[in-house]
Amino acid sequence: MIAALALLGAMGLGAPRQITVAGPLGEVVVPLRMDATGAPGISAPRLLAALGGTLRVQEGWAEVTVARQPFRFLLGAPLYLFSSQLQPLASSIWVARDTVYLPLQFVSEIIPYFLGERYRYDAPRARLEDISRKPPAARAPTSAERLPNGLRVGHVVTIDPGHGGVDPGNPGTYFPRGVREKEVTLQIGLLLREELRSRGVGVRMTRTTDTLIALGDRGGFCTAACDLFVSLHVNSLARRRGYTEVRGFETFFLAEARTEDAARVAKMENEAVRFETGESQDQMTGGLDFILKDLQLNEHLRESARAAELVQKQLRTVHTGLDRGVKQAGFMVLTTARRPAILVEMGYSTNPQDGRYLTSRRSQRTMAAAIADAIVEYLKDYERKTGGAEAGGGR
Ligand SMILES: [Zn+2]
Repeated sequence: MIAALALLGAMGLGAPRQITVAGPLGEVVVPLRMDATGAPGISAPRLLAALGGTLRVQEGWAEVTVARQPFRFLLGAPLYLFSSQLQPLASSIWVARDTVYLPLQFVSEIIPYFLGERYRYDAPRARLEDISRKPPAARAPTSAERLPNGLRVGHVVTIDPGHGGVDPGNPGTYFPRGVREKEVTLQIGLLLREELRSRGVGVRMTRTTDTLIALGDRGGFCTAACDLFVSLHVNSLARRRGYTEVRGFETFFLAEARTEDAARVAKMENEAVRFETGESQDQMTGGLDFILKDLQLNEHLRESARAAELVQKQLRTVHTGLDRGVKQAGFMVLTTARRPAILVEMGYSTNPQDGRYLTSRRSQRTMAAAIADAIVEYLKDYERKTGGAEAGGGR
């Protein structure tokens, strides 16, 4: 008994000499290396090649992205930043011969903890497995499978009902008494979920109840396996002459604001950050320039613009208000989405007709159906564009 325990202990606690990564490239063996204190580390470039992730080093930080989730490590200090939270590490990351080494803990604990839906770590076998990876034989027929509406199975869309909890959103001047933006975005969001599911599209919600999700965390719901991020909001205007006459719907995608009005809407929605602790709006929006230079995000801009166009086109057929068009602005909630992302301002609560339209159950359903139709059209478009690769059975 004692001998067996001792043996187990030695196997469990002793650091392995190498780990196996079962990822998109198949099984890859990555050797470990000890740092000056004897803590085991793993070469970041080799690990990330095996996982299909990325590494970017700048100004004392190393940003490691796995499954589109960024982890930021402070070079030479046992700390990392994930989802705006600073976390301790058992040992620091370090650089040797121009190679960044990550603590083994990143593979054995951090990835399985934060990305548990996708990765499992088998400690006795020192093996990190991407469990979303299926054998090619099993995957081919599934990816070819089509729904009655012609859509391929397996699409996932993240719906983000704006505001929530202590952040009511706009006060809903012409909504029924006591109803505010956060309730309307959630009602329509839940209806949109039903409409999408009935069209065979998987849905992930940033919230399904009256809770506050930080702006910086919302985009994190739409990662590798997610096709589109859709944030729902209601517009409003400050009291000024004729402000109650302005009505209609508009859809935004992330870019520097082109007009004063677009900048106003972004500023208003970004204000939600004041309900959060820690992050300041300046800190987030100050990075917009930098974020827009990110190549991966730029690739998504064209897709985001296309999705926005289709949403406007469909809403036009049902909405009683004005089609205010597709616009661009710096929404914080969109900066964190690492996939194509749009934000729909579904109408003005400061206009009596829009106020009624947004809160009637029947028109909420109509709007949700129109947005769902637009999303299906977007996904079909996207499938057509990537059709060659999909038909070949690979992704
Ligand atoms: Zn809002």
